[in-house]
This record gives sequence, structure tokens and C-alpha cells, in this order.
Amino acid sequence: MMRHALSFDVEEYFQVANLRGHFRRDDWDGVPSRLDVGMDVILGALERHGARATFFFLGWIAQRRADLVRRCLDAGHEVASHGFEHAFLQDLGRAGLVEDLARTEAALAAAGAPAPRGFRASTFTLTRDTWWAFDVLVERGYRYDSSVHPVRHPLYGVPGFEPGISTVEAAGGSIREFPVATWPCAGRNLPVGGGGYFRLLPVAVSAAAIAGLERRGRPAALYLHPWEFDSDQPRCPAPLLARFRHTLNLKRTLPRLERLLERFRFDPYERVLAENADVVG
Ligand SMILES: [Zn+2]
Repeated sequence: MMRHALSFDVEEYFQVANLRGHFRRDDWDGVPSRLDVGMDVILGALERHGARATFFFLGWIAQRRADLVRRCLDAGHEVASHGFEHAFLQDLGRAGLVEDLARTEAALAAAGAPAPRGFRASTFTLTRDTWWAFDVLVERGYRYDSSVHPVRHPLYGVPGFEPGISTVEAAGGSIREFPVATWPCAGRNLPVGGGGYFRLLPVAVSAAAIAGLERRGRPAALYLHPWEFDSDQPRCPAPLLARFRHTLNLKRTLPRLERLLERFRFDPYERVLAENADVVG
């Protein structure tokens, strides 16, 4: 049975890019945490289904919640980096990314995690404009990245990029890229591997996308967030569209994930990549 990659970006609901106008970075420590609600649901579901996943931790979270990092590791999951405080790559710049990764690595190490092998940038901001990030990742010993989104979107995306596992040649060597799943539909790639579309479209669409990739011998990668499993999170005064996107179908996330966990086999990124080491793209 083919192994697909399952991942969770470990961040608070108030750290999401969509809501960044409403929760200033300096105020984060004053906002009550909701992280445990989602993490309990996720870790419970994975245990029930015998599935393992990759948890991309924000360094900011790892620094404050070493217990959560250890809980993931103890349950056999992979811990990787989601950057320190959810900054966009284009805002960090090259030197800023080096510092951001170093701080996150230090926070993960202090929490008892091995050096992260994988990275996912905030909000898929690894684009043609921030391609230098691959050089930085290779320099720091990362083995894979999951920040490229092969979709057309006003803020991110690399349309036409290989939607499965591929190898990117960077300045100091090569690195694997494993984007989250997309599904070709009417000439566009729909991001069905997580986020708003995952909660908007019937779960059958995500299942069909995974099955379609499977038939082509390619594993899929899914991404979800703890806040997507927390339908009681405080509603914040964001603009209507941002609020709609953020809270749409939160109650459905768990049953949808469970449907997929019943039908497919999921593992951490590093495991799936090791099994597909011969795939070159
Ligand atoms: Zn994120």
C-alpha cells in the first residue's frame, strides 16, 4: 500500500497570515493559547488510525511548548521547521532566513528534537522571487522542503511546477521538493491537499486526488493546522472574507481527515521521501 505524507503546521490561530492585521507579533504572548485543543484532536486521531505524520513547528511555539514537541516525538511523529514566527520569505530576505532558521533549530534542539530535515515556509512563500531560499536550506543541511505550491494565486505559487516529488538543484547541492497535493481541474491546479479548499470541497475530491496520484505511482502530501480542528476558537474582527476562509467548515475537518485515514496510509515526509528516493523530476 502506497504511503502518502501527512503534515500539520503547528501554529496558533492568531498567527495565521490571513489574520495578521488583527494580532500584532508583539501581542502574541498576551493572546490565550488554543493550540492544545487542536493538537489533542490530531494526536488522538493519528493514534486511533495508526498513522504518523510530520509536524512543522514554528520556533516560537517550540520555544514555549517543549512538551508538545516531545509529545509528537514520543508518538513516533517527525518534527520539522515552519520557521520561527511565520514571517514571509520575501520579508525575511536571505540573511533574515538564515537567522530565522537558526533560531528555530535552537528552539527545537532545546525541546529535545533532532535537527530538522524538512522545512515549510510560512504561507507557501517560496516562489520564483524567493528561490534563493533553496540555497540557504541546502547550506543548513535540510534534506527536503514543502513550501512550493504549484498553483496560480495572487500571493504565492509557482504555476507549472512539478506537483509531485522532485529534486531542486541549489547552489551548494540538491534538495527534494514535495509540494502539498494539487488536482488539475479546468486548466488550473486546485490546492486540494489542505487549507480552505480541503474544507470547502467534498472530501471525495481530496480522496480522488490522492487516488489519482497513487495510480500514477506518486505519493500525495496533505497539510492541516491544529486551529482547523478547533471550532470553538474565538472569532476575531477580521474582514468578512478572511474570517469566512478561516472558519469555514471547521467542524468537518476531523471527520474528513478520518475518512482519509481509513482509506489511505499516511507517514511522515522523511519516510515517504526515503521510499521514493529514486524519483527524479
Ligand atoms: Zn503556517
